[in-house]
Amino acid sequence: MQAEIIAVGTEILLGQITNTNSTYIAQGLAELGIDSYYQTVVGDNPQRLSAVIEIAAQRNDLVILTGGLGPTKDDLTKQTLAQYLNVALVESPSAMQKITAWFATNGKTMTANNRLQALYPDGAVPLTNHNGMAVGAFYQSVDSADFLLLPGPPRELTMMFDTEAKPKLAAAYGRQAQIYSRVMRFYGISESELVTKLQPLIDGQTKVTIAPYAKTNEVTLRLSAQAVTERVAKTMIDTVDQQIKACVGTFFYGYGDDNSLVTTVIKQMIAAKLSLTAAESLTAGLFQSTIGSVSGVSAIFPGGFVTYANEAKHQLVNVPQAIIDTDGVVSKTTAQAMAVGAKKQLNTAVGVSFTGVAGPGTLEGQVAGTVWIGLAYRNQPVVAHQYHFAGNRQQIRERSVMAGLDLLRH
Ligand code: ATP
Ligand code: MG
Repeated sequence: MQAEIIAVGTEILLGQITNTNSTYIAQGLAELGIDSYYQTVVGDNPQRLSAVIEIAAQRNDLVILTGGLGPTKDDLTKQTLAQYLNVALVESPSAMQKITAWFATNGKTMTANNRLQALYPDGAVPLTNHNGMAVGAFYQSVDSADFLLLPGPPRELTMMFDTEAKPKLAAAYGRQAQIYSRVMRFYGISESELVTKLQPLIDGQTKVTIAPYAKTNEVTLRLSAQAVTERVAKTMIDTVDQQIKACVGTFFYGYGDDNSLVTTVIKQMIAAKLSLTAAESLTAGLFQSTIGSVSGVSAIFPGGFVTYANEAKHQLVNVPQAIIDTDGVVSKTTAQAMAVGAKKQLNTAVGVSFTGVAGPGTLEGQVAGTVWIGLAYRNQPVVAHQYHFAGNRQQIRERSVMAGLDLLRH
C-alpha cells in the first residue's frame, strides 16, 4: 500500500505559501501505516496536472490531491481528475443545498461556477466540507489507483481529512497497530541509579514506554512503542533512544535481548580480528570460561593461563620474581606483568590479567574485593586498573570478569 500526495497551486510553486497541507496529510498517512514515497507540487495548469496524475496513478495505490476544488477559473482539479478517470461530475444534493442556502442568507446572487463546488466525480463517495463549500471525494478504482480529493484551504483540509477521509482510509487500507520494541544494554550503573537519572524522561513519555530490567551485573531498558508500521515505531523509539544516550550514554554498550556484555565485546573483537589471551589469578579461568560461551570465539582466542600460585605466575607468564617479592601479587605491577607475559606467550594482540582478593579473608593485607585488572594492547604501554568490588567470593570473581570485559570494550 503506497500513496502519493499532489498539492495543486501555482502559489506553492512560487514560494508564496508553504505546503503545510502535504505535511499534514503525510503525518496522517504515517499514522495509518500507509507508505508514501513521493510528494508532488504542480501549478494550476490542467495539462501538467493531468500529467502528474497519470504518473502518480501508475506508481501508487492511492493518489491524494489537495487544492483547486473552489469555484474560480484556476480551480481545475476535479475536472482534470474526472477527465482522467473518464467519468462525469455529479452533484451532491446536500452540498448544493448548503451553497444555495448561503447565497440566500447573504443576499447574493449565485453564479453558475458556484455550483461547481457541489460536484464530485461520478462513482466516488462525496466528503462533506464542514468548514467550507467545496465537496471532497474518495474514489476507489478497480483498474487504476484510488483517489482522494481534498480542498486547499488548510482549515477545510484538516477538518475534512480528519473527520471524513481518515476513517475511510483506515477502513480501506488501515493496518492494526503493533508493539515494536528495542532493548538497550548498560554496564557500570545499577538499575536504581539508571532509573533515577532517567526518571524525568520516563515520566514524560506518552508514546514510548521505558521498562528497566536488572540482569546479573548489567541493566537493560526495553523501549516499546505502538504503531502500525515498524518505520513509524522506529522513529518514535529513535528519539527516546537519543535522549537516553544523552543522559547515560557512557554506560550504554549495545542493543539486543541476547547481546550480553561478553557477547557484544567478543563479537566486536572477532570483527576487528583482535586476538586475545588472559592470565587469571583470583578468577581462576572464569574469564576464559565466560568468553568461551560465545560461539566463534576460537577465531581470536588461542587459549590462556590460570596462574593461581606465585610460581605459576612466574613459570607460565614470566612475572619476574622481584616484582612479586617487592610489590606482592595484588599489585599494579603484577597485573601489568601478567598481561604482558600472557600476550607475549601466545603472540596475541591483547592480553588481559586478573589478580586480587576474592575473599572472604584478606591477602597481603588487602581486603576482599581488591582487584587489579591489567590490559596489554599491541605495542601500547600496558595499563592496570584497581577495583574494589563488593559481594561474596563468587560475586567478586564475576564482577572482575565483567570489569575486564568492560575494559576490552574501550
Ligand atoms: P478555494 O475554495 O478557497 O478556492 P481550493 O480548494 O480551490 O479552495 P486553492 O484555491 O488551491 O484551494 O487554495 C486556496 C488557498 O488555500 C490558497 O490560497 C492557500 O492559502 C491555501 N492552500 C492551498 N494549497 C495549500 C497547501 N498545499 N498548503 C497550504 N495552504 C494551501
Ligand atoms: Mg481555489
